[in-house]
Amino acid sequence: MVRILLSNDDGIASEGLRVLYESVSGLGEVSVVAPDREQSAAGHSLSLYRPLRIDPAGEGWFAVDGTPTDCVNLALNGLMKDRRPDILISGINKGGNLGDDITYSGTVAAAMEATLLGVPSVAISLVHENGETPNFGFAGSFARRIAGEVLDRGLREGVLLNVNVPNISEEDCQGVRITHQGKRVYGNAVVGKIDPRGREYFWIGGNSLSWVKEVGTDFDAVANGCVSITPIRLDLTDYEAMKDIEKWNLG
Ligand code: MN
Repeated sequence: MVRILLSNDDGIASEGLRVLYESVSGLGEVSVVAPDREQSAAGHSLSLYRPLRIDPAGEGWFAVDGTPTDCVNLALNGLMKDRRPDILISGINKGGNLGDDITYSGTVAAAMEATLLGVPSVAISLVHENGETPNFGFAGSFARRIAGEVLDRGLREGVLLNVNVPNISEEDCQGVRITHQGKRVYGNAVVGKIDPRGREYFWIGGNSLSWVKEVGTDFDAVANGCVSITPIRLDLTDYEAMKDIEKWNLG
């Protein structure tokens, strides 16, 4: 029996997680280990300085008072230690994880953690604009399709798939593109104001909506109504830069 682990960063009660659960349950035995509350933009953070609690949240469902990375770590090294999953799927995130955003993303971090611990992983996100109603239907059916392929074919070691699905129906989808990470155009996203006691405060703004226009990127695929699949390598080394720096006078 295939074992599937699900997690996310929107929290255990999120709609995207429920849709993902329903979409992949036919593929095998599904366990859910997810944060007890929203942890979006938690990045790849692990809680080392406090204990973590796991609360049962239904048959095969567990809520953790920690980050997405904590959830996957606890699942693989604790709860499922003797019955490790064949795949981890993280999502379906409410909002895209495109370009450089993946370094902040708790959704992608959950997949990174599983990849580090040797479990093939997929992060899946629904890209929708602010004010637009998210419709998880197509992302759910695509999650099932990609999970089936990963279970059949496996993934290269140290590589996860970052999947972004546009907020459209399956009929309106223009295809599936294998993409590379795009680049966001960063604006002046920090807002400074004065609080009621006269003290200055700052608020880090949301994502800027613009991105560097380049064919072949995740942004470009989604903007053209396509599903984007980016293979992400956890080895962040730049091998070309190594050659440059080897020429430096560093003794
Ligand atoms: Mn999220």
